[in-house]
Amino acid sequence: MQRGSFQAMKSLNKSIILTKILNNGPISRAQIAKETELTPPTVGSLVKELIEQGIVKESTQGVSKGGRKPTMLVIDQQAFYMIGIDAGPSKISAILTDLAGRVLMNLEQPLSTPITETQFTQQLIGITEQMLSHNQAHQDDIIGIGVAMHGVVNAELGQALYAPNLNLRDMPIGETLSAHFPYLVKVENDARALALAESWFGDGKGFERLVTLNIGTGVGAGVTIDGELYRGESHIAGEVGHMTIDINGETCTCGNQGCLQTMVSGPAIARRIDKLIKTGTETSLKGQTEITAFDVFKAAEAGDELAEQVLVDTGVYLGIGLTNLIHTLNPSKIILTGGVAKAGKYLLPAVKQTVAKRALTQSAKTTSISLSKLGDHATALGAVALILVELFSKNGEMTI
Ligand SMILES: [Zn+2]
Repeated sequence: MQRGSFQAMKSLNKSIILTKILNNGPISRAQIAKETELTPPTVGSLVKELIEQGIVKESTQGVSKGGRKPTMLVIDQQAFYMIGIDAGPSKISAILTDLAGRVLMNLEQPLSTPITETQFTQQLIGITEQMLSHNQAHQDDIIGIGVAMHGVVNAELGQALYAPNLNLRDMPIGETLSAHFPYLVKVENDARALALAESWFGDGKGFERLVTLNIGTGVGAGVTIDGELYRGESHIAGEVGHMTIDINGETCTCGNQGCLQTMVSGPAIARRIDKLIKTGTETSLKGQTEITAFDVFKAAEAGDELAEQVLVDTGVYLGIGLTNLIHTLNPSKIILTGGVAKAGKYLLPAVKQTVAKRALTQSAKTTSISLSKLGDHATALGAVALILVELFSKNGEMTI
């Protein structure tokens, strides 16, 4: 075997062990060998390297099945820290976390529009500086800054290509932050970052093929395979909000007709109840102007039958969209997130019934579908996960 391929094999094995400890720790060396089919000496020597790097540590002793108690291995969650920034469209929030995604501090600032590129980048730099000055004790252990940016992003170049709500284009965010701070900087679209957050810190942890569907004003999905984002050939993988469900349906913001987004987004829910009210259907929302999806949810909670029916119908449409997704990608799990997912108690049963009715095979019919539990910092956690992906693919050897 050539030296190069030996190095590549060693690196791959180390990465397998590190991920195993992350997902299944505390875990013994023997258990790792058994579950990864690597030899015990290989596991032993690579674990030794990971401990020397400081990313893995020995933990409390495990339960013995007779004989000496095995020493358990865990990720040293306090070995490194990361900053995650959720940028726009209406505010910037930043968090400092350890490797487990535990939030040590968070800051938030409103973004006022109109805003220039200089003002925007100054604000990004400012919030990062503020975070660093409050956490001087951790400064030497910070390994990176992740930015989850709304709009179209070229993740490879770290550029925000188009931020529609701020009306800004072609901002070299990665380059600008790298010039100011001595850390690795990664930039990604916010919906994709959210998917990464579910894969590293949420219910998607440990699932090989995960789809996270974000349903809010828009609808978009992030696809992660083995904890890494699948972006597609030209960065549009996951644009499932523009999957056609009804060729004669409403016109979408993209110009096509009957996209999933025209049926399940927040504005779509509001439009549908508006139409029903105009036909004379009884509801407590009658007479109210500018009804939002949240109003529909509140009305359903108060026992309004029409509001509940509109949400259940939304679940059926969503189920049809998800069936198409299941047939295309066959994911191990689907997580629903975003504002509309907050009405999950009305949507989810209809989603599951629709998938069970329409999907092709028994396993596809019972694809795990659940609601996100990540809470307010989800997108910023996704930004943090951008750095974790780097750290784990480099076997924990990424130091500053
Ligand atoms: Zn569309």
